[in-house]
Amino acid sequence: MFVVNEKEFPDSRVVAHLDRDRCDGCAICVDICPTGALELVNNKKRPGKKVIFIQAKKCHGCGVCEGACPKEAIFIPGLSISELRSYVHKAIAEIYQEVGIGVCGQTPF
Ligand code: SF4
Ligand code: SF4
Repeated sequence: MFVVNEKEFPDSRVVAHLDRDRCDGCAICVDICPTGALELVNNKKRPGKKVIFIQAKKCHGCGVCEGACPKEAIFIPGLSISELRSYVHKAIAEIYQEVGIGVCGQTPF
C-alpha cells in the first residue's frame, strides 16, 4: 500500500539521491514511495546489511522518501527536509481524515 498517490505530485526531472553511509536498510522509504522506485538490496560495503537502490527511471522526485527517512540518508537535491516532512504529514493527515482518525499535529517520523 502506498501512503501517497503519485498523481498528487507534479512530474519532475529531479531524482532522489542516497548517502549510502547513512542508510541502515530499514526499508521505511521502500514502503512509502508512491512509484515503487526504491528497492532493498545487499550492501556490498557492509556484508549482511541492506541498503537502498534507487530506480531512477521510476523516481518522480516527489521527496516523500526524504521526509520519511529517519537517518536523513535519502534526499532530493535543493529541497529542505522540513518542507518535505510537512508534505508527508499533510498527506497522512488527509488519509486519517478520510478514515475518521484525529491527528495530533506531529509527524509520525
Ligand atoms: S528510510 Fe532511510 S535509512 Fe531507511 S532504508 Fe530508506 S534511505 Fe535507508
Ligand atoms: S522522490 Fe523518493 S518517494 Fe518520491 S518517487 Fe523518488 S524515490 Fe519514490
